[in-house]
Amino acid sequence: MLAVMPPAPSQNQTPASPGAWTLPAGLAVALLAGGLLGWLLGDRAAWGVAIVAMAETVLLLSRFRHVTQSMMPAPASAPTPRQERLLMRTRRLASNLRDLRRTASQLPDAVVLMDQDEHVRWCNHAAETLLGIRLPEDRGVQLRQRLQASELAGWLRQGGEREPLHDTIAPGKPDSQISVSLLPFGRRQQVLLARDTSHVTRLEQMRRDFVANVSHELRTPLTVIHGYLELIDPEDAPALAPVLGEMRAQSKRMGQIVEDLLTLSRLETQHRVEDERVPMAPLLATLRKEAEAISQGRHTVTVEADAALDLLGSPKDLHSALSNLVSNAVRYTPAGGGITIGWRRDDDGGATYSVTDTGYGIPASHLARLTERFYRVSSSRSRGTGGTGLGLSIVKHVLNLHQARLSIDSEPGRGSTFACHFGPERVLPAGGSRDES
Ligand code: ADP
Repeated sequence: MLAVMPPAPSQNQTPASPGAWTLPAGLAVALLAGGLLGWLLGDRAAWGVAIVAMAETVLLLSRFRHVTQSMMPAPASAPTPRQERLLMRTRRLASNLRDLRRTASQLPDAVVLMDQDEHVRWCNHAAETLLGIRLPEDRGVQLRQRLQASELAGWLRQGGEREPLHDTIAPGKPDSQISVSLLPFGRRQQVLLARDTSHVTRLEQMRRDFVANVSHELRTPLTVIHGYLELIDPEDAPALAPVLGEMRAQSKRMGQIVEDLLTLSRLETQHRVEDERVPMAPLLATLRKEAEAISQGRHTVTVEADAALDLLGSPKDLHSALSNLVSNAVRYTPAGGGITIGWRRDDDGGATYSVTDTGYGIPASHLARLTERFYRVSSSRSRGTGGTGLGLSIVKHVLNLHQARLSIDSEPGRGSTFACHFGPERVLPAGGSRDES
């Protein structure tokens, strides 16, 4: 980061003094950090870099002014050529700073420059609108005190390595939501960045409502169609038997897609689960039976449970997620393959549930996208086995609600392992009663 701007070099000072090195290296690190943060906050690396550059310029100029002022001769004496050059540079810097400030003032994101104790030094127009701070009145005021009544103050108080705060109410514009992050720079100084996310949140809500409403509307007609199809006896019209069979299968699949979409809508709007003890021994036995039922004797199903542990969470949602993995393992493993359901204690006090198969496997390039809705490695294989393309998405949402993590290890032609890692807070010694949880 910027060292104190060294005074102009004396005649016998070499150009590569240590002070000269700290400027570009520190600046590069700060710009990199700014870009990274900007990128993390929403693909705006260029803004991150621009904001850090501005902040650096403000600092640089104030130090530069200080040094040059102290060096200015008494008004009476004529400036030396060196002093004149210095003056010119200062003016150029001041003009650059004015341009940068004007640009920063117009940014749609709020930018607040603060010292190490979070006292406000400068902010742009968006910060005045979104955070409700005013310059010059709030210059020198501690931000967390100024925003005392908001969630932001609590977040600022956390200090240290706090994560960005998402979708909190904007203190200066209560009908808007903002995402906020802090970028440290210079000598324990910080830039607070806040972005209005109301529009994105509204769009996201509209998308969720639309999917939920469409699914709900489709449910009834599909049930009716399915019901009538079940009433028709293929023996009454043998020529139509294959068509009837296909219609039944497709209406069943549509019904399953609708149910999965409704499950996803519910999971998306849910922020927490009602915690209950989920006894793992009987659940593992059920999962094994389910695997055998789907497999119809075509695979070997094994359970390896060496942990006498239960889970804490929603029994229905956990069953749905864990059985989805079992069903996938069976469906994506050719006949003669093996499925192993594992449940083991982890070193950190948590536990891992895993399903390993010896099936088709998944090329590495697909792994990162598997939990997206309707993402399939092979559409024909998925549809052929009755898949909806929503299973892993449901698994991810259920695990998120239980603060758990999904890991996928797979090799084409050899098989896959899908593992759910539960933290210690979600794990209980096996066998207690439900009330104990
Ligand atoms: P689907 O209903 O299509 O199975 P999922 O969301 O459960 O949808 O899975 C998404 C995709 O991930 C599947 O279409 C399949 O390509 C791949 N996949 C999931 N589990 C496995 C597995 N055990 N082995 C190979 N591929 C798998």
